[in-house]
Amino acid sequence: MEQTPLAACPTCGKTDAKKITYTWWGGALGPRMMNHVKCNNCGTGYNSKTGKSNTTAIVIYMVVIIVVFAILGAILQGM
Ligand SMILES: [Zn+2]
Repeated sequence: MEQTPLAACPTCGKTDAKKITYTWWGGALGPRMMNHVKCNNCGTGYNSKTGKSNTTAIVIYMVVIIVVFAILGAILQGM
């Protein structure tokens, strides 16, 4: 398996982080889409490719999910 180099943690600057496979906000798909990792040193979650916090991306992701479900709900109710 090919290991992509990790970006440094935005909080403490270490490159010791583990991949997150499941989160409350994105299920199993969200963290994979955003290369979400968690720092083993300070516990900060961030993007392993950009080395930046994923907070903005997570908020956008959640809004998109909510909108999709709202649209689906509206469609289902109209049937
Ligand atoms: Zn850290």
